[in-house]
Amino acid sequence: MQHPRITHHGGHLGVTGSCHQLHLAEGRSLLIDCGAYQGVEQPSDNALGFDARQVAALVVTHVHLDHIGRIPQLLAEGFSGPILCSEPSAVLLPLMLEDAWKLEYGSDPQRMKRFLALLSERIVPLRFGEYHEVRNGQRGLVRLKLERAGHLLGSAWVECELSDGATDTSWRVVFSGDLGAGNSPLSWPLTPPGPAHTLVLESTYGDRLHTSPAGRVAQLEKVIDQALSDQGTLLIPAFSLGRAQELLLELAQILEHKRLGYEPGCGQQPLNWPQLPVILDSPLASRITQAYRNLHTYWPSQAADGQALSFPQLLTIDNHEQHVHVVNYLASTVRPAIVIAGNGMCSGGRIVNYLKRMLPDPRHNLLFTGYQARGTPGAVLKAAQGAEGFVKVDLDGEAYTLRARLHSLEGYSAHADQAGLVAFAEAIGPSLKQVRLVHGEPGAKAALQRRLREVFGDQVSVEC
Ligand SMILES: [Zn+2]
Repeated sequence: MQHPRITHHGGHLGVTGSCHQLHLAEGRSLLIDCGAYQGVEQPSDNALGFDARQVAALVVTHVHLDHIGRIPQLLAEGFSGPILCSEPSAVLLPLMLEDAWKLEYGSDPQRMKRFLALLSERIVPLRFGEYHEVRNGQRGLVRLKLERAGHLLGSAWVECELSDGATDTSWRVVFSGDLGAGNSPLSWPLTPPGPAHTLVLESTYGDRLHTSPAGRVAQLEKVIDQALSDQGTLLIPAFSLGRAQELLLELAQILEHKRLGYEPGCGQQPLNWPQLPVILDSPLASRITQAYRNLHTYWPSQAADGQALSFPQLLTIDNHEQHVHVVNYLASTVRPAIVIAGNGMCSGGRIVNYLKRMLPDPRHNLLFTGYQARGTPGAVLKAAQGAEGFVKVDLDGEAYTLRARLHSLEGYSAHADQAGLVAFAEAIGPSLKQVRLVHGEPGAKAALQRRLREVFGDQVSVEC
């Protein structure tokens, strides 16, 4: 059987807009992800670049917006097949799309209702490791299965086996989706792939090796100790999906550890830990956290149970009035608190109101736990670490002097590094003929291409 044709409609030149089309017989195709472009990668026109009516099925690897954000457009342009995804993704997908499309559909609740109803009709949850069949023309089949990718609760890589009934041959393609770094407390580590011919591999950190994430909770605890002895607020900008829940889990562990007591001999604790409020100020993060609690049977066993995401000090802020009240209260009192608010790069969302009030006050602390894209206020702030008092930061067109203390925690990457990506490719074994690198900046892709060529020699073609 010949190499099947694969076309990329996003996620191949940069890191957003993932959308890969695997061509089948008779003009039909399978689509792997249908993500939105983000930030500077936004194209000038929003065309999908293919005929949505010819797509037999959409496979969703995970529910980050850069993998699902164009699904409403796909449906609007006539896609009539199933949306195949893991069981946790089937729960999280409507929550993410409802929030993303609220602005679009906000003025028309009926339209939103119809869209969500259509979405739930189309979603077909698949169990990890079980094969599902899609027709490949008159005489062929595609057997596909999802396996754990370790990137996010429910995240998967996809194996597609195309068979040609006429020649009795088959070809296996693996799409990696986003692969995890093996350090997420709320998702199982990835399952290594078996024999395949073609691998479409993400390359976000194709040029990097992560430092060991060991002691992440201890690092977080140290920052909290430092920050809260200032009698102010510890602000943590976080993404609503994934990072916010990981932080809550780790904060619950730290609070429990503090409650039980403390390091003997360390003297008095700086504050009354059982009274310390942890405030989750993001409506989307609150809804997703509730979904995570309901999905606790999919958590790795060491993450305990669903109760770990609901502890007595956790307060969730729903409406805007409450939000304004909390910002004013925390900015004007000396009551310590931890606030998790979106968005993760400080480019919008409720975190901005906290920053406006708290950046000019040295009692407050700001903790970064994630990647900050170029040009965002988060990136400007992160780069200003150590220059507190000398830097002004632009928020909504106004300059604020930075006097709050900045911290950043490493070891929180949700993506595999170069060694992890190479290990994934190597696990496929000698059947591998072709690797296509996607989802990476040009430098990261080139570095990973060089490394894979060293590992595989001439046996495997590695294309960027
Ligand atoms: Zn992702």
